[in-house]
Amino acid sequence: MPKKQTALLFRTLPTDCHIIANMKVNADGYFRYRFKGALIMFHRLIWKLKKGEIPEGYEINHKCNNRGCCNIEHLECISRAEHLDKTNRMRYVAPSGKLMKHAENYRKAY
Ligand SMILES: [Zn+2]
Repeated sequence: MPKKQTALLFRTLPTDCHIIANMKVNADGYFRYRFKGALIMFHRLIWKLKKGEIPEGYEINHKCNNRGCCNIEHLECISRAEHLDKTNRMRYVAPSGKLMKHAENYRKAY
């Protein structure tokens, strides 16, 4: 018997990030969702529903650096290489060594 899905409750944060209030993120900070029998990353599902298929070799980047965010305005579809480059540069410049939290900080640093 498939488990009954409960309706998702969205919440908007002061950063305008949309998160799912009644679901827990995984240890890596992403929401995962069971969709047509497969467990997929929620932000990728949002992208597919709103913008269409994600081309081979492309990934969805959180411009806001909040991995749990599903605001389509905070997402961008970029190549894997560009995604890695952005992530690595961000790690490199973070003064505390921690990941930066918001896109504003990211822009300020460049
Ligand atoms: Zn966001």
